[in-house]
Formats: sequence, C-alpha cells, structure tokens
Amino acid sequence: MAKIIDGKAIAKKLRAVVATQTVALKEQAVTPGLAVILVGDDPASEIYVRNKERAAAKVGVNAKTFKYPNDATEEEILAQIVALNQDETIDAILVQSPVPSQINEQTIQEAILPAKDVDGFHPENSGRLFAGQTGNYPIANTPRGIMTMLHHEEIDLAGKHAVVLGRSILVGRPMFALLQMANASVTLLHRYTPADLRRQLLATADVVVVATGVPDLIMGADLKPGATVIDVGMNRLPNNTLVGDVNFDTAKKVAGAITPVPGGVGPMTIATLLETTVELAAQHHHIELEHGWQNI
Ligand code: NAD
Repeated sequence: MAKIIDGKAIAKKLRAVVATQTVALKEQAVTPGLAVILVGDDPASEIYVRNKERAAAKVGVNAKTFKYPNDATEEEILAQIVALNQDETIDAILVQSPVPSQINEQTIQEAILPAKDVDGFHPENSGRLFAGQTGNYPIANTPRGIMTMLHHEEIDLAGKHAVVLGRSILVGRPMFALLQMANASVTLLHRYTPADLRRQLLATADVVVVATGVPDLIMGADLKPGATVIDVGMNRLPNNTLVGDVNFDTAKKVAGAITPVPGGVGPMTIATLLETTVELAAQHHHIELEHGWQNI
C-alpha cells in the first residue's frame, strides 16, 4: 500500500516559513503585495481567487483582486498590468486563467514585468528555466510546489525515469524542466501520445506526474510497483465530487507514494504562490531572506 503524501500538511509547514519571512520583511517596513486580475465570472476561478486571498492574508501578504467583466478588452487588461507594473506596493502580478477568448494569453504574459511575474510565464523567466539556470527568478508555482513536496518526502530523482503527462505552460512543461534539472531522465507525454506507448513508458517510470484533466487516465495496472505518483488533475464529476487524473483506489495498491485529490498538489500550489510572492518582494526591496523552502 502506498504512502499517502499529505500535501495539506506540507503546505502548512511551507506557509509557516512564509509567515516568518513576511514578519522579517515587515520589520523593514515591507508588506508583500500580490495583485490578482480576474476576468469573467467563471465560478471555479472565483473560488481559486478567494482561496488565494484568504491564504495570503493569513501569512501577511497583501492580496488585491482586480475584477473585470467577461467582455473586458485586451487593452483594458494591458492598461491594468502597466499600472501594476509601476505600482511600488505590488511585488507580484498574476492573471487568473482561463481568460475570455478576446484576450490573448501570450500578450498578457509578456506584458507583466519579469520581476513581478509570479507565475513564471514570461518568456524571460520560462527561458531561464529551460536554459537550466539556477538562481532567483520565478518558476510556475504548481511544478515548483511539486518539487518541494518531492524534496520533503526525500524522494530521490537523480538517475530515475520520470514521466510527465501534459505539456501546458502551467504544469507539464516547467515540470519537465525541473525534473530534468534534478537529474531525472524525463519523458513528456501529451494528447497525441498513443495509449500503447504511454503504457510502455509508464511501466518503467519511477516518478509519474499527471496533469491532463482526464479523470482515471492512469490506473494502478499502468504503474511500475513502488512508483511515486503525483496527481495534479482537478476534475469535478457530475455528482460534484472532485477527482484527479489517477484512479486513486487502484493506484494506491501499486504505487510507493501517491498524492490524494483533494489534499495533495492543490494546497502546495497556493502555499508556493505565497512563497514566490514573498521572494519577489524581498528581491524588489533588496532584502536577503533567511528561511527558504529547504527548511520545511
Ligand atoms: P491543459 O488543458 O492546459 O493541458 C492538458 C494537457 O494534457 C495537454 O498538454 C494535453 O496534451 C495533455 N493530455 C490530454 N490528454 C492526454 C492523454 N491522454 N495523455 C497524455 N496527455 C494528455 O491543463 P493544465 O492547465 O495543465 O491542467 C491539467 C489538470 O491539472 C487540470 O485538471 C487542472 O485543473 C489541474 N491543475 C491543478 C492544479 C493544482 O494546483 N492542483 C494547478 C494547475 C492545474
């Protein structure tokens, strides 16, 4: 039976570290500021944004939401980003996805100042990641949070075969880059990967990260016994239950360690967003932070 990786508990430890960091910043008169731009009235996005605001307040981050209607123009959103880029009280900016189709996500990503790009989507930041640079630049929070979780669980990655399913800029691609930087041999699969090839590759995977939005894509029988399984998927079923992309009941019998949904990757994403916000605030004000994620 697999060890259940308790993302909620690890996120709590990470938030405690972040809270000590904000105290240190406040001693130097700095309150980290996070701006969230929300366009449209997608109920799931509204819940995410509310959760982010609440979590931010608890660790001493000042989160402000800028809400726009579904028919907001790209110019309006760009003007808001320009204002936030110049706002000295704002250290981190994110645009909640998805955005309505009249707004080009790429244009938005490139408009955010790289030093305030808390999601790490700006090509300057994602380029650094894909160049394998280490150092102080923002990295997409979901994959970064997963790396923290793997580190916390002392899961060895060097020389291991990691399979990532999904190639979005939000999860799959940066996950691929991070696992590679941790010296895993990484295979990236996507919707055009034939099922036979997927099964063949999964049979040798020591670490599996699934971020597809397809419920039950991975069953226990697909896994190598003892594999570490990170389920990023968040799918709302017609009966309103929330499930991942991995069939938890069959997978936990084969895996060595597995994240549940909910209570796995989700809480880590929010805690990591706050961690990145505080780091950007420290950089912005040229302050050295003492405690990093390595201390959780
Ligand atoms: P996306 O829709 O942008 O990308 C999905 C990816 O899955 C695509 O690259 C696609 O090629 C791939 N895919 C689809 N079918 C596949 C298959 N059969 N085999 C292999 N790959 C396949 O989605 P996203 O934004 O990356 O999110 C993925 C899932 O993760 C969603 O359920 C989302 O809700 C969830 N998510 C959770 C968190 C969290 O914090 N827990 C954060 C981000 C996303």
